[in-house]
Amino acid sequence: MARLVMKFGGTSVGDIDRIRNVAAHVQREVDAGHQVAVVVSAMSGETNRLVGLTRDVARLHDAREYDVVVSAGEQVSVGLLAMALQDVGVAARSWLGWQIAMKTSDVHGAARIEDVDVAAMEEQFGEGRVAVIAGFQGISGNGRITTLGRGGSDTSAVAVAAALKADRCDIYTDVDGVYTTDPRMVPAAQKMNRISYEEMLEMASLGAKVLQTRSVELAMSHNVRLQVRSSFDAPDDAKFKNMAPDDIVGTLICDEDEIMEHEIVSGIAYARNEAKLTLLGVPDRPGIAAQIFGPLADAAVNVDMIVQNMSPDGKTTDVTFTVSQDELERAVKVVEAEKVGLDYSQLQSAPEMAKISIVGVGMRSHAGVAQKMFKVLADQGINIHVISTSEIKISVLIDADYVEPAVRALHAAYGLDEEVAG
Ligand code: ASP
Ligand code: MG
Repeated sequence: MARLVMKFGGTSVGDIDRIRNVAAHVQREVDAGHQVAVVVSAMSGETNRLVGLTRDVARLHDAREYDVVVSAGEQVSVGLLAMALQDVGVAARSWLGWQIAMKTSDVHGAARIEDVDVAAMEEQFGEGRVAVIAGFQGISGNGRITTLGRGGSDTSAVAVAAALKADRCDIYTDVDGVYTTDPRMVPAAQKMNRISYEEMLEMASLGAKVLQTRSVELAMSHNVRLQVRSSFDAPDDAKFKNMAPDDIVGTLICDEDEIMEHEIVSGIAYARNEAKLTLLGVPDRPGIAAQIFGPLADAAVNVDMIVQNMSPDGKTTDVTFTVSQDELERAVKVVEAEKVGLDYSQLQSAPEMAKISIVGVGMRSHAGVAQKMFKVLADQGINIHVISTSEIKISVLIDADYVEPAVRALHAAYGLDEEVAG
C-alpha cells in the first residue's frame, strides 16, 4: 500500500464527463489499495472568468476580496469530484484550503504556503476515505482566504504530498510527460522517463510550461517524488494492470541519485519572448553596473542575461542585457531617464530575440559541451548575441527567426532525437 497525491488541472476537470474520468482514475488507485488525496484546480476557463469579474467591478480592488472571488472555482470542482466519487462507490469528502488548514502568508494573490495541517485528513484515510482538496487556496494568519498565484494548484499538491509524506505526487495533465524539447516543434522529441529536480527547475523556468516553477522548488526541498502523466489515458488502460507502486508511466521528477544513467544534455528549452538592450560608450568606473540595474530593479523590470565588455582604452565600455519583450518599453524609458547620470553615448534595442538553453546535470563532469553548441549553431549560420551559463545549463541569445532550426539542430547533435525504426 502506498500513499498517493493525485493532482488534476483545469482541463482534466473541464466538464462533468472529464470529472467522471478523474473519479475513475482515483477509483483505480483506491482499488489497488492506496491511500489517496486528490488536489484539483477550477474547471478550465473558470478562474479567468472570475478574474474578469473582479476587474469589471472595480479596477482597483481589495486584494483580500479578489482572493475570495477567484478561489471560488476550486470550491465547485472539489464538491463535484467528491460527488462523482461517491457516485461510483468511493468514500470521499471535499476540503477547502481553510478546512485543512493550508496556512499561508498574507500576500493576497501570491501567498506562500507556510504550513499544512494534515491530521484530520490522515484520520479519515484510516476510514478509507479519499480527501478531495481545493488547490490554489489557503488561509492567512488573519483567517482570510488567500490564493497562491496562477497555476498554484501544482504547488498545493506538492505541499500536501510533503505534509502527508506521500510516496509520490502524480500531476495529471494534458501531456503525458516531460519531453526533451517541445514535441510540437521537434517531432523527434522524446518523453523522458526521469529528470532531476534541478534539471526540471531549469526547464520549467526556461519556458517548458508543464509545472509551476514553485512546485518544483518545493518538491526539491522536501524530496517529494513528482510524476507528470496524462489525464487522457483511459483509467482502465491495460498498462495500469499489475503495476508496482514504483512503476512510472509518465516522467518522474526526482533526486539526481535516483537516476542511474545521465545524458550529458537532458533537454533543450527555449523562450521566444526576449529583447536585448545595449548601452554603448558607458564610462568604465566602479558603480556603473549598480547605476544601470538599480533603477531597473526599482521599476520592477526583470533583467535576465547581462554581459559587460572589456574596455580597450580603460575609459568606456558596452553593456548588453536582456529583458522580456513586454518589459522592453519600460526598460528603455528607465535607461533613457538615467542618460545624464550614466553618460552613455548610445542606447540600442533589439525586440525580436529568443533564448535557447541546453540543460543537463551531466555537464558538470563533461568538457566540450559548450563548444559543441557553438559549433552546431555556427554550422547553421546562426549568430549568437549573448551567452550565459550555470553549472548545468548553457543559454544563448539568438534572433527569434532562428529558434526552430537551432532547437532542431541541437536536439539532433546531442543525441536526443528518437531513433526511427527501419
Ligand atoms: N485555478 C487556478 C488558475 O487557473 C490554479 C491552477 O489552475 O493551478 O490559475
Ligand atoms: Mg497548471
